[in-house]
Amino acid sequence: MSRVVNSTAAGGLPGGAGQSPIQQRAQRRGRLLLAAVAAATIALGTTAVLALTGQLQPGRLWGFDLTEIPSILAATDGNDDSTDNLTSRSVVPLEEVANGEGATVPGTGLSTPVPPPGNLNSASRGSTLLGSPDQPFPPVVPSGQVRAVETGNGLVLPVISGDDASWRVHTACEQIITISRTDAVPIGPAHVVLDAGHGGTEPGAVGPSGLTEKEINLDVVLRAKAKLERLGAKVVLTRAGDHNITTKSRGRIAEAVEPALFVSVHHNGGAPAGGDVPGTMAFTKAGSDLSARFGGLFYQALEPVLNKAAAERRAAYEAYVAELEAYEALVDAYDQSVAARDEALVTNGQLPSTTIPSSRDTGTPPTARQRQPKFTTTVPANASTTVPVPSTIAPPPPFTVKPVQPFSFAGSGNRGVRAWIRPDGLDYLSVLRNSGDVPTVLVEYLYLTNPAEEALLMDPEFLDAQAEALVTAIVDYFSTTKRGTGFVADQYDDQPIGGGGTPDGCVEPQLP
Ligand SMILES: [Zn+2]
Repeated sequence: MSRVVNSTAAGGLPGGAGQSPIQQRAQRRGRLLLAAVAAATIALGTTAVLALTGQLQPGRLWGFDLTEIPSILAATDGNDDSTDNLTSRSVVPLEEVANGEGATVPGTGLSTPVPPPGNLNSASRGSTLLGSPDQPFPPVVPSGQVRAVETGNGLVLPVISGDDASWRVHTACEQIITISRTDAVPIGPAHVVLDAGHGGTEPGAVGPSGLTEKEINLDVVLRAKAKLERLGAKVVLTRAGDHNITTKSRGRIAEAVEPALFVSVHHNGGAPAGGDVPGTMAFTKAGSDLSARFGGLFYQALEPVLNKAAAERRAAYEAYVAELEAYEALVDAYDQSVAARDEALVTNGQLPSTTIPSSRDTGTPPTARQRQPKFTTTVPANASTTVPVPSTIAPPPPFTVKPVQPFSFAGSGNRGVRAWIRPDGLDYLSVLRNSGDVPTVLVEYLYLTNPAEEALLMDPEFLDAQAEALVTAIVDYFSTTKRGTGFVADQYDDQPIGGGGTPDGCVEPQLP
């Protein structure tokens, strides 16, 4: 009997997951450093790595001063229309002045507004809790004025005027058109108007894998709407499909529908310095206490959801590292059994020692020896031996565990709830500036441009949890006096942010 000892058998460890165990083993000594750098690079981007290495200064965690504004500008996805000239709340187009009170519904018998308890008019929403913990959303009663209509294909159009046959309305791209009364039905008031940021030709922020902000904004909004309606809320969306709509039109819809709350949903872009805490931001309406209260409630509801998701992802990464360590221990044991066998063969004169670089002598890992392709020795069955030749153990199976990336949030230095105000005292963000006196908040959930956060946002369960947090905050807003958390100093700015949302390039959605 003889047995064949060859380099392929000795060195042919099965690989897996795009990297052989040999390569994995060779990298082990540097893993801690590599993992730290990889984690920082993957999760935070180059800017953050530079910041960590002292070449840039990351922003402070809470609050900020003027020196931080450039990083905040870079971090925010851009949802303003910098060319919007109708910047003052006191400047109203003539047709709105003429029809500012809305049009009476012909033939409905609702020509006299009747404000029952819980009616959502601007007087009650400013001072009174509308609901209770048992019934956060009391029934909405039409006021008799039609200020918005909804088309059969789901477009919400603010009404300028109406007659027995038609409505004169604003469109998504700020045109004024006349549509037949058979093509639209009156809507409003509502408890909440939800706005899915961007849409159509404007994707908003885009993740490294191509996930677009416009689609996840709408996903979260649709989920939240369904949940809220199950709780009895009347919810209106600025867009229910993937189409353009200017920021002014979004605000105009909210103003027309008269909700007690208007929330514009976004996910952030850019690659600001990251960390262990989420970079969630909420921009509240200048001077609006109700808006600030909702911003705080949103932050308070969302933060634990994000921290839980992060803890799960970090645990998954640690489990992956543990599996890798255990596998490398198997590879080590196998390597050592091969080395022991080869050493016995050399001692017995059955293997020329010069063909076997010793890891002990050279410091080279055994895996380097295994790469030598020409080493093949036949061991005679009757060879005289001075030492017994041990058998090698079985090589480990391929490593097939799917790699898990380390997790880190981006934007930790920019997080918080604040108003963002221009020197003239008006809101910096157009959608807040154009929503009349409706309490309005623009929320930035996470940084879509951070690979780790994009991976989270690809998970429907996580998107549902985000929607649930929004619903929790809205229920709290309607039924409690809680003020929430996460407040930081207001921000002041006068530089255009850009980012679309203007009539320029706006592609009108399909009208009836
Ligand atoms: Zn956005």
